[in-house]
Amino acid sequence: MDASTINLPTACKNNYLYIQSSNMKVLLIASECAPLVKVGGIADVIGSLPLALESIGVDARIVIPYYKPLLDAVNFKLIKTFLVNFAGIDENVSVHETKLSNSNVTVYLLKNDKYISNGGIYFSPQHMASPDEELDRFAFFSKAVCRIFSYNNDIFNADIFHCNDWHTGLIPQLLQSMHNYNKSQILKTIFTIHNLAYQGFTKTDIAQKLDININSDQSLKWDATDDNLDMVLQGIVGADYITTVSEKYAEEIQTSEFGEGLHEILESRKNRLKGILNGISYEVFDPSKDPYIKANYTHGDVISGKQKNKLSLQKELGLTINQNTPLIGIITRLASQKGLNLVSDSLENICESGHQVVLLGNGDPLLEEIFKQANYKPSLKGKFKGLIQFSEKMARKIYASSDMFLIPSKYEPCGLTQMIAMKYGTVPIVRATGGLFDTVSDKETGFSFIEFSSNALLNSIMRASELYKNKGNWNKMVQKCMSQDFSWTQSAKKYASLYQKVLNL
Ligand code: ADP
Repeated sequence: MDASTINLPTACKNNYLYIQSSNMKVLLIASECAPLVKVGGIADVIGSLPLALESIGVDARIVIPYYKPLLDAVNFKLIKTFLVNFAGIDENVSVHETKLSNSNVTVYLLKNDKYISNGGIYFSPQHMASPDEELDRFAFFSKAVCRIFSYNNDIFNADIFHCNDWHTGLIPQLLQSMHNYNKSQILKTIFTIHNLAYQGFTKTDIAQKLDININSDQSLKWDATDDNLDMVLQGIVGADYITTVSEKYAEEIQTSEFGEGLHEILESRKNRLKGILNGISYEVFDPSKDPYIKANYTHGDVISGKQKNKLSLQKELGLTINQNTPLIGIITRLASQKGLNLVSDSLENICESGHQVVLLGNGDPLLEEIFKQANYKPSLKGKFKGLIQFSEKMARKIYASSDMFLIPSKYEPCGLTQMIAMKYGTVPIVRATGGLFDTVSDKETGFSFIEFSSNALLNSIMRASELYKNKGNWNKMVQKCMSQDFSWTQSAKKYASLYQKVLNL
């Protein structure tokens, strides 16, 4: 029985959950983990969810690739070496170990010179379709994880493999083919979709490389009829349970508009599909102790604290120095998903109507060029700054200095930036989709719009500006934003209950 269904006081319920959770061992398998390797929000999730799980008694550990840039920077302790067969050749894989900072959570890193620890973090981060090296890398990584961590190993015997995104989608299938006996003995798996648009389409010869027989499995056979395998599809059909990172996105991906061609399959598995909202780490994102910002502040001095930060950033970036001009921040991967064409189309209008905009992002070369060029437009001088880079330090300065934070995404599985912005007292203006819909309440904790258009975006900015003119009402909204609780506490409990449920399936 679920603790939430019995009538216990909260403290008792938490204790009950702790007792239930305390025997569970979970291996989170992913491509990124902050602060070690971060490209997008998945890194924040993998770097913070296990800490919250640990605090309720789940032994949650992480395994990621030991990418070359990380290998060049840090030498983590070697614990064991294995041979993993791929494409008919035995490859050396070494397992290294470290702890997540300020915690007891173990991170394993797998090193292999040929497939994992060569090239960059990703071979082609700006494209939806991954190149062959990327697909081979994660097929190999998945096989190595199954070889090293499944069944009676002497490193970590997990009860559940918690797989994340296409990079790990083949794992349920690999477990079945590697341990081709009584199905009830196969390790339980959860597959979390952080972004359905990236699916990992690979040629069918990956099956030979992995030593999987396509004809032995219905879903593989069916998937291979169009001459490729879809790693996300394999994760969806193979895992014991599927989660995604907000309740709204869990609904949306069952429709043709958001389902990226997989909506019918997702719908057919809706009894095994659940949305659990991501959290953020308030250890990392906290304006009262953020080491990167000019002036630290809390609820009590947010208005003056943010003004000091704004004046300092305006000076640093060459924007016109004026504490009364509303500053709009944007921090994002430059990808079509993020609705940045709405921003570029309306940038002149936004600035002409008395706002400043600072954008921090990198990714798609075309979008990079658009925002680089905007820096040179005379009409935007002193009003717009596009910073085409990835910088954690600059990101924090923007969160702390901006009055408003713009996220006009076409779709957004969860989105972390609106939650971070709110913690920094920065009012989000978002398109009401996915996790943005679930976390921003129009006129309460921000402004939202439905239609994907520049007009709708401008309209919401103007509504925000109207409120900004009334300092008392603006401050009320800022306070409300800051007091939202997007910590992992609630979501980690939901994952722990789900792990329990999956173990009982
Ligand atoms: P996604 O995972 O789709 O990229 P999220 O909103 O879930 O989007 O997470 C984005 C994370 O990456 C946030 O922590 C955000 O601050 C960070 N981020 C995005 N772009 C940059 C950048 N150019 N520099 C620094 N941090 C960035």
